[in-house]
Amino acid sequence: MTDPSLADRAVGSVLGLALGDALGAPFEFRRAREIPSPIPAFKLPWMDLPPGSTTDDTAMARNLARSMAASDGLDPEDLVGRHLAWFRSDPPDVGNLTRRVLSRVAAGTAAEDAARMVWEERGPEVSAGNGSVMYCGPLGVAYANRPVELLELAPRLSALTHWDERCRTAVLAVTLAVAALVRGEPPEGAVTAAVETVVGRPGGEELEYLVGEAGRARPIDGPDQGFCLFTAGIALQAAYEGEGFEEGLRRVVSLGGDTDTNAAAGGALLGAIAGRSGLPVAWFGRLADRDGVESEAEALVPLAARR
Ligand SMILES: [Mg+2]
Repeated sequence: MTDPSLADRAVGSVLGLALGDALGAPFEFRRAREIPSPIPAFKLPWMDLPPGSTTDDTAMARNLARSMAASDGLDPEDLVGRHLAWFRSDPPDVGNLTRRVLSRVAAGTAAEDAARMVWEERGPEVSAGNGSVMYCGPLGVAYANRPVELLELAPRLSALTHWDERCRTAVLAVTLAVAALVRGEPPEGAVTAAVETVVGRPGGEELEYLVGEAGRARPIDGPDQGFCLFTAGIALQAAYEGEGFEEGLRRVVSLGGDTDTNAAAGGALLGAIAGRSGLPVAWFGRLADRDGVESEAEALVPLAARR
């Protein structure tokens, strides 16, 4: 039988991602000074949708969770098919790079080729967006007890949409940390080990700096707010510093910038620490399609337990 505390943390991570996304959605792309304090949590609409609505971050994370449960692990082809079906359903928002890549995939190009072409066209300055790190959490959940596999699978997941090496580094760091937290390792050690593993990769030293200084010496609400290392850095910082789920996500959102995505990545980490049983009931009660997200999260538990 699966360890009930492992199941609690695995489900908490996936639900935490969705809760962070919904918390941050109404404040996306605002400067920190424009965000009210205290944050009205789950009280404001997003794109005329009710409070608690989730965005592309959760949609793509759910594609990933469903795909891994159906395919017994990461199957890039199956996942891209699900992303494409979602993209064709005309969702209310799709990230800029993801839209460019999936448009090419829809026209018949393989995902990794499309991601590389978009990266080459756009150049590294505008091609290191946070669209892969925003939804990668469930990969860390599914491979919680097989972290060595993440060294190959996490960069590969990123490269399906986000070719830049820094995006791959960000996805590897976040998924390694999620995996360690789902295993029940202490947060400070889990984050430190994840950062040490990626520090020699492109962007690794910058990520290490941002885990300390994102939102402090290095604001994350400026023109480069969608940078993948900002999202990974602030999310890992919240976990490292041992903030509670609600307190940590409120702080992440209060820093402005890509608030829904930063809080989605942070929620995957803080949700693994808190576990399903530690998530705020009032927020959960307002989460869009909470039963659907929860059942998809539960379907990952057998994968999380596998060694
Ligand atoms: Mg979003």
